[in-house]
Amino acid sequence: MDLRDSPDEAAFRTRVRSWLEGNLPAEPGPDWSRKIFDAGFAGLTWPEEYGGTGAPYSHQAIALEEFAKAGAPNHMNVIALGMAGPTIMVHGTEEQKQRYLPRMLSAEEIWCQGFSEPDAGSDLSAVRTRVEPRDDGFVVNGQKVWSSLAHLADFCILVGRSDPQSERHAGLTYVIVDMHAPGVEVRPLRQITGEAEFNEIFFSDVEVPAENLLGEIGGGWAVAMTTLLHERGTLGFALTGVLDAQVQRLIALAKERAADDPIIRDRVAREWVELQALKLTNYRSLATLMQTGIPGPEGSGSKLFWSEQNQRLTKLAMEILGGEDDGYWGYQQLRSRGNTIEAGTSEILRNIIAERVLGLPRSR
Ligand SMILES: Cc1cc2nc3c(=O)[nH]c(=O)nc-3n(C[C@H](O)[C@H](O)[C@H](O)COP(=O)(O)OP(=O)(O)OC[C@H]3O[C@@H](n4cnc5c(N)ncnc54)[C@H](O)[C@@H]3O)c2cc1C
Repeated sequence: MDLRDSPDEAAFRTRVRSWLEGNLPAEPGPDWSRKIFDAGFAGLTWPEEYGGTGAPYSHQAIALEEFAKAGAPNHMNVIALGMAGPTIMVHGTEEQKQRYLPRMLSAEEIWCQGFSEPDAGSDLSAVRTRVEPRDDGFVVNGQKVWSSLAHLADFCILVGRSDPQSERHAGLTYVIVDMHAPGVEVRPLRQITGEAEFNEIFFSDVEVPAENLLGEIGGGWAVAMTTLLHERGTLGFALTGVLDAQVQRLIALAKERAADDPIIRDRVAREWVELQALKLTNYRSLATLMQTGIPGPEGSGSKLFWSEQNQRLTKLAMEILGGEDDGYWGYQQLRSRGNTIEAGTSEILRNIIAERVLGLPRSR
């Protein structure tokens, strides 16, 4: 694979760079997301009829790299763009695609993900929230937890149990829930960073119309797997771009505070080397994606390495600072703790890599 930009990719990279130079926002939010959409940089790979630009995946990767390099915040509708949208594109009806996809890109409607429950995290097949089929749709009862953006969301992709007698992967149904419907209650959860990015959601007799079903009744597991593949598969580039910027910042800090310390020099060099390996692994995933259109299980490797490296390097930065909080690295270290839990814990990702990438026997 030739890793240099083609003439078309180079021209696109220049366009993104010069747009960012003139448009960097004072703060992230819906206005910035709208601006990204108006400039044609949201949903780059999505079909034009749904508000995208039908560009190749390489353009998406370039845009993510350049945004991260410029320190520009990403589009705020991360769950819509990375998970709900791609899932609707695969399993949704034409009406659903037209109704939801363009407004995800313009950030007119924000989405959250209602998968995890108090007793179902790594093992999603243990979900107990009821999605009870009725003549004209479904009634949802139960509780979800750790739902990022739920306090701002208009819609939720939710997996629940439609057959109360069923066990594990069978009897699950995947629906789109209107977060403004009667019976939906969102309670924010505060994280170690002091922010409240995620929430508990309580559903009490929430009515969901029949047209909000995604896939088949009882076929929710297959739909959920599409969501998870995209969650891990597309995360890599965005996050590696951010990590690249972090490594550059770490190098600057080491030059300023510990340039003569041979052990620190060694450890900083290791982080740079690991970053290069991660970038090359991402290019390999990109090649699979460009050939098949589906993210492969290798995305789990990128997510695992990225999240563990991010924790290691924020810890190293704090060591160089001698525990002093400069207002940046302290926050980054606290936030990095959640990275090895969200979108699959490190243990779960190692299981996936062992079984699905390396073909080792199943662990259970
Ligand atoms: C910042 C953040 C944002 C999140 N956003 C969302 C969201 O928007 N929507 C959503 O639905 N969820 C979200 N989550 C939840 C996340 O998906 C779960 O926390 C995660 O899947 C782990 O589940 P759990 O917390 O229930 O831990 P558990 O599954 O109870 O795991 C506890 C420990 O046991 C280990 N473990 C479990 N099973 C195995 C196994 N088979 N083999 C080896 N070890 C195992 C785990 O690795 C972990 O260390 C978010 C989490 C975080 C931290």
